[in-house]
Amino acid sequence: MQFRTRAIHVGNEPDPRPGAVVPPIHLAATYVQNEAGVLQEFDYSRTGNPTRKSFEETIAALEGGTHALAFASGMAATTCAMMLLASGDHVVAGSDIYGGTYRLLHNVLDHFGIEVSLVRASDDPKRVAEAMTPRTKLVWIESPGNPLMSITDIAACAEVAHQGRAILGVDNTFATPALTRPLELGADIVMHSATKYIGGHSDLLGGVLAVRDAELAERLHFAQNATGAVMGPLESYLCSRGLKTLELRVREQSRTASRLADWLAADKRIARVNYPGRREHPGHAIAARQMDGEFGAMLSFELNGDFAAAKRVVEGTRLIRLAVSLGAVESLLEQPASMSHASYAREDRLAHGITDGLIRLSVGLEAFEDLRDDLDQAFADAMG
Ligand SMILES: *Cc1c(COP(=O)(O)O)cnc(C)c1O
Repeated sequence: MQFRTRAIHVGNEPDPRPGAVVPPIHLAATYVQNEAGVLQEFDYSRTGNPTRKSFEETIAALEGGTHALAFASGMAATTCAMMLLASGDHVVAGSDIYGGTYRLLHNVLDHFGIEVSLVRASDDPKRVAEAMTPRTKLVWIESPGNPLMSITDIAACAEVAHQGRAILGVDNTFATPALTRPLELGADIVMHSATKYIGGHSDLLGGVLAVRDAELAERLHFAQNATGAVMGPLESYLCSRGLKTLELRVREQSRTASRLADWLAADKRIARVNYPGRREHPGHAIAARQMDGEFGAMLSFELNGDFAAAKRVVEGTRLIRLAVSLGAVESLLEQPASMSHASYAREDRLAHGITDGLIRLSVGLEAFEDLRDDLDQAFADAMG
């Protein structure tokens, strides 16, 4: 079956009793047992829930994996992956990982004796190899990265990680399985913030891990059940529903993003556009190989102006909402310097290329012309 067919049918068997085309939402916390001490498929909803299982089956099939686990948030999913580590272990992570992952590694897992090295994996997978030690158990990358849409070569990182006997985890939130399937490129774990494209409508929090190895799935499920941050039945249902239109949304949103990137690049008020679909983007060639036909619906651009001008632009759009988060049908924009990356020291932020005038845009499903006109009026107001 093709991707979009799997998205609709795998894990979505009709309910046989009333013949409902859409499976019901199973809210029960516990399940009646036929016999004491004989395990049935479901016994308690933290351990397993039919609605969650449906969603997990679909996302596993879309990622080219064998198993998936759904969590209460993206950070809960990442935390569960980190539970594979033990005190004394070392993690090599990309320097542009999600801020919450950075915080988890530096301010929580450090209490447990886990060490981390950040490297520019998007520049060259050799940076990962150089940072690995005999204690390195996990390499963690993200592509496209935030907020410059840096592209990391997933297949090359998988090779490097495996040479050092570590596993590779890939945060695939920005690309989604519609465009990139890290497990097929050699990664061991795929992670998603389902809050973004999988949910797709800014109305839930969720997270996913997907794998292609039964033993790894078993270890992760053990940690998930032990720590307990599972996805609830309603969110699981909404995620199943979101997956049915994932490919259509992501492809259409990507096409609009690509048109906006071209329009922005031609505008004299804009100093720079970061979009992997444009030839001048340093990761373009890898993205063309690694991403399936489109380059994603996230982009960022730098104004020919200062912090205050960028602030006026993000506050001056009428249709495009000023908010963190991304991946939904409505377009959102934000100023990394004052919002998503405000916790960075200014010098660190600038060293990462996150300038004062940078604006990040999550392109939704609105018409290109309306988004273009909205940005145009905000630029005119902010910059004259
Ligand atoms: C939002 C996000 C996360 C964290 O997910 P939550 O659902 O907010 O916990 C992780 N990685 C990326 C790339 C994200 O965009």
